[in-house]
Amino acid sequence: MSSNFYKKKLEELLFVCKRNIGSEKVNEDLISKAFRFALEAHKNDKRATGEPYFHHPYEVAMIMAKEIPIDDVSVASALLHDVLEDSEFTIKDVRAEFGDEIAEIVEGASQIEGIFENYEITVADSFKKLLLSMASDLRILLVKFADRLHNLRTIEQLPQQRQIRIAQDTLEIFAPFAHRFGLSNIKAEMEDLSFKCLNRNVYDDIANKLKERKRERDKFLKRFIEPIDEALKKENYKFEITSRVKHIYSIYRKMLRINKPIDEIYDLFAVRVILDTANKYDCFSAYGIISQIYIPVPERFKDYISLPKQNGYQSIHTTVVSKEGKLVEVQIRTREMHEFAEKGIAAHWKYKENIRISDKKLEEWMKWIRETIENAGKDDVSSSQIFESFKLNLYQDEIYCFTPKGELKILPYGATPLDFAFEIHTEIGMRCIGAKVNGKIVSLDTPLKSGSQVEIITSKNQTPKKDWEKIVVTQKAKADIRKYFNTEKRKIALKGKDIFEKKLKKKKIHINEDELIRIVQKYRYKDLLNFYYAIGIEESRADEMIGIILNKSKILTAEQTPGLIKETELSTIDLKHEKFIKEIRESIGSITIGDSSDPNTIQGIKYDFAKCCNPIPGDEVVGYITRTEGLRIHRRNCNNIINLYLMDPNRIIDVNWNISIHDTFSGGIVIIGEDRKGLVNEITELISKNFGVNIKSININTKGSLFEGTLILEVKDLKQLNSIIEKISHHKSIIRASRFG
Ligand code: MN
Repeated sequence: MSSNFYKKKLEELLFVCKRNIGSEKVNEDLISKAFRFALEAHKNDKRATGEPYFHHPYEVAMIMAKEIPIDDVSVASALLHDVLEDSEFTIKDVRAEFGDEIAEIVEGASQIEGIFENYEITVADSFKKLLLSMASDLRILLVKFADRLHNLRTIEQLPQQRQIRIAQDTLEIFAPFAHRFGLSNIKAEMEDLSFKCLNRNVYDDIANKLKERKRERDKFLKRFIEPIDEALKKENYKFEITSRVKHIYSIYRKMLRINKPIDEIYDLFAVRVILDTANKYDCFSAYGIISQIYIPVPERFKDYISLPKQNGYQSIHTTVVSKEGKLVEVQIRTREMHEFAEKGIAAHWKYKENIRISDKKLEEWMKWIRETIENAGKDDVSSSQIFESFKLNLYQDEIYCFTPKGELKILPYGATPLDFAFEIHTEIGMRCIGAKVNGKIVSLDTPLKSGSQVEIITSKNQTPKKDWEKIVVTQKAKADIRKYFNTEKRKIALKGKDIFEKKLKKKKIHINEDELIRIVQKYRYKDLLNFYYAIGIEESRADEMIGIILNKSKILTAEQTPGLIKETELSTIDLKHEKFIKEIRESIGSITIGDSSDPNTIQGIKYDFAKCCNPIPGDEVVGYITRTEGLRIHRRNCNNIINLYLMDPNRIIDVNWNISIHDTFSGGIVIIGEDRKGLVNEITELISKNFGVNIKSININTKGSLFEGTLILEVKDLKQLNSIIEKISHHKSIIRASRFG
């Protein structure tokens, strides 16, 4: 194709843009640049007919400029809408050349195309919401309307199966959408082209009948319009009278609805009187003039000017009787109302600056779109704001994702792959070890985006983790995880109960349950469940309690009043230890690690570090006063210390670090990643090379295609450990690296 040919094509497009959008609002350089970019991107591609592929985006841009003339950005985006699909250009290239706004539209349009290519539209309503949730910018959808329309216009070059699919999707998704956006021309053309594809015989039948009667109809219309034309001219109206046969699909639906053949449908066409006036009351006076000429049918009068249709449509509809006794529908409207009727949302933009369409009306209109699609509307976003910026944001509260089999799942905003796993099935959630989103491994707490495909990786060895409760947002996942831990707790408690009862039996102790409850509660267990659970975790708790009971029962035996416990009796239990605790608390108060010359004691008290949480300098820590081993240092947020605190807050004391201590401490890291050869070496090398710290132990468990590992390192302090975690988590095969414990 000669460069002259394309030069002319560009000129044509610019001309239409300037005419319909306004020459002062069109950035010609932008459109020319997009034109050349698309031409270059598609230079090697051909359409099924053999014509250059570029003709497609060009025509889509032309549809935008003609039918949905909003702005130059949307025309440029239409030119570029397929460059990501069919060329070597990436979204980065588009962004670098055209900026974020256009890149977002082009990317969004490509993503939506991907949805239609990869998934079967099963639940139309959900798909409509899905599209809205993906279209962060309104113009993404509008470009897709234009794209779809051009595909329909050239549908015959496609294989039959694809034709049917496109036609069905159009009737179910795109045409209703276009209607809601007030794009009545586009909607009508989409419906007719799809209907033609799906039901060729009926389509041809209706089209032929309309054609057969065209001459007759034209003659009739001429006769009908003439007197109206004269009368309006006489009254000095500026106006235009047009007539249009209704579109075939709407005639077909009417035939179905009233169950009559086409010959018996009288309103196959309508006459339109479009007044060039800003005064809506002119429509009513014009109506008065017309009803002087033809007798109106009163019950068919509709005033959509005072009461606009829900999509904002305004016009007067009247049906009058012609001289021949035929019923004719006449629509009377101003030019602005007409443009709105034809171009809907696009007309809104044009008139927005004139403030003739009030914010309130826009708001109502957007509300209607929302509600009709959503059924149950949750309207908390100001619609006028959405309109100001083209930003749709209609479905920010919901996310739509696919399973690998193409099933659509709806999740609340902020949902993670873990929520998705539980959404599929409780078991899948329980066994979830990782997830792939659009083929890439992501960590389980990555927020999902609409339109993504999510694949859950499971392992039969996996069980829910405590921190999962913080990752999930859905009620189902939360409930499932909680239930698991409650059951798990009960299982451990049952084991504990068994241990405890065996020990009682061995010591020949009999104690009734009420009494036991009182004792364990006195000993700061919340209830028996928590007591037995503690035994299940740590058997020595049983011996502890038996000691207490034995002590007490001596008193009880002596007094011969079983079941009665006096407050004072219990406070004598373990007096020695209580005294020790008191001593520490009073004589030392807050204590500091590293202040003593003896590295194994703090101010004369023996201490060590808890293995469950491996505290290191920089961590907030507390000391737990053990029975026989002095002070044990835990991290303040360690799960164990929280439990210990619940049982006996008296035994917990504040501890500080002396920051000047030069020593190494055991710090733990948990890593999850893709399992592959050599990874462990890479990680250990990365640590020793960059930080020069010793690795005390490595423990790796493979789980399907993933692994989970624990590293214990000799580190100086928290800062060092955190920078190691940071470094590891950036390794390409690592999904997550976090603190252990
Ligand atoms: Mn396309």
